[in-house]
Amino acid sequence: MTYAAAVLRRCDDLAAFSEEQGRLTRRFATPALWQAGETVGEWMEAAGMAVRRDAIGNLIGRLGDAERRTLLIGSHLDTVRDAGRYDGTLGVLVAIGCLERLRDQGRSLPHAVEVVAFADEEGTRYGTSYLGSRAFVGCFEQEWLERRDADGVKMREALSAVGGSPEGIAGCRREPEDLIGYYEVHIEQGPALESQDLSLGVVTAIAGQTGATVTFSGVAGHAGTVPMSLRRDALTAAAEWILAAETLARGQDGLVATAGRLTLGPGVGNVIPGRAELSLDLRHAEDSVRIRAGAELRRRAEAIAASRGVEVEWRSHETAAVSLSPELTEHLAKAVVASGRPVVRLPSGAGHDAAIVSMIAPAAMLFVRCAGGVSHNPAESVTVGDVAAAIDVTTRFLESVR
Ligand SMILES: [Zn+2]
Repeated sequence: MTYAAAVLRRCDDLAAFSEEQGRLTRRFATPALWQAGETVGEWMEAAGMAVRRDAIGNLIGRLGDAERRTLLIGSHLDTVRDAGRYDGTLGVLVAIGCLERLRDQGRSLPHAVEVVAFADEEGTRYGTSYLGSRAFVGCFEQEWLERRDADGVKMREALSAVGGSPEGIAGCRREPEDLIGYYEVHIEQGPALESQDLSLGVVTAIAGQTGATVTFSGVAGHAGTVPMSLRRDALTAAAEWILAAETLARGQDGLVATAGRLTLGPGVGNVIPGRAELSLDLRHAEDSVRIRAGAELRRRAEAIAASRGVEVEWRSHETAAVSLSPELTEHLAKAVVASGRPVVRLPSGAGHDAAIVSMIAPAAMLFVRCAGGVSHNPAESVTVGDVAAAIDVTTRFLESVR
C-alpha cells in the first residue's frame, strides 16, 4: 500500500501546480504545466531514470540501456479547467511508482522502459487535442503553431515562452523500431467498474466518434397569431429528433448519443423558433455500429423535417475507433488474473493518448475505478486500494511483456 499512498500524495502535490488560484487548471504550454513536469522529472531521476524534455514539452524518463527493446508507458499531465487531480496524472505516477517498487525489491525488467508524460491531451487551450502524443508519433501539423488561444497568444509564442522549441517539433518523433508497445493506466471516467464493484478494467477499444451539427429551419412567427396547424416550428422538429436519437441509442448496446448544444433563432419568448441548430455526439467502439446509427439518425431528421414542413441541414465529421493490441491486452489480462482479480473488459468512450500512440506501436490500457464515474471535475476521486491494485497489475504486466 505504501507505493499507492505515495502516488496519491504526489497527485496532491502536483495539484498545487495550477494557472488559477483555488482550482486546478494546467493547460498546454503554461508555466504551471512546465513546473509540474519539472517536479515529475525529479521523481523520475530519483527512480533511476535518464530524463529529457522534447521540443513540445513531453517529459520522457528512460530506464534501461539504449540497445534494449523498449516499452512505453505513459499518460498526460495537462488538465481541463477546474479539473480533478487524477485524469492523466495518475497514469504517469503509477508508472513511476511501479519502477520504484521493482528497484526496491531488487527486480529488473527484461526490457527498457520509457515513461512519457505527454504535454497536451485535453486540447483545452488551442482546441486541438493530443498535441503531445501527435508530436511524439510524428503527425503534428506545423500550421497548428499559428493557432491562438482565447487571449490571442499564438501556440508558437506560448511554447517558446515556457522553454519549448517550436522549430524542433519534427524531432519529437519517436522512431518505432525498438518499441515493444505502449501501455497506459487511466481513470475510467465512467461508472461501469464502480457499478460492478471492481477496481480495474482491461480496455478493449477506444470508441470512434461522429460529431454533427444539425440545423432545422422553419418559419419564425408571432406566438399569438399563427395557429398551431400552420406553424413550421424548427424547435419542435429538433425536439422530436433528439428523442428519436435517445431512443435509438438506448436500443443499441454500447451506443451513446448526446445533443449537448442547442441554439435557437430568434430565441425570443413570443416568437415561434424559425431556426434550431444543435450538436450530435455519437460514439461506439465499433465503427460499423456508429456509422449505421449516424445514417439512421440523418434519415430520421429528414423524415421529421418533411412531416413538419421544415428543412434540415446535416454537417458531420468523424474519427474512427481504435482497437487496442490483442496480444498486449492478453498479457494485461493475465497480469490481472495473476494478481487475483477478475478480468473485465470494457471499451473507452473517451479519447486517450493511447489512440494516437497506437499509430506507431501496439497499445494496451488499464482502467482504474473512479468514484461516481466523475472526471473533468474537482470531485474526481480514486481509492488507495484501487491504485495499489493498478500498481500490482502493472508491475506484473511490465515483467511479462518481451
Ligand atoms: Zn486523460
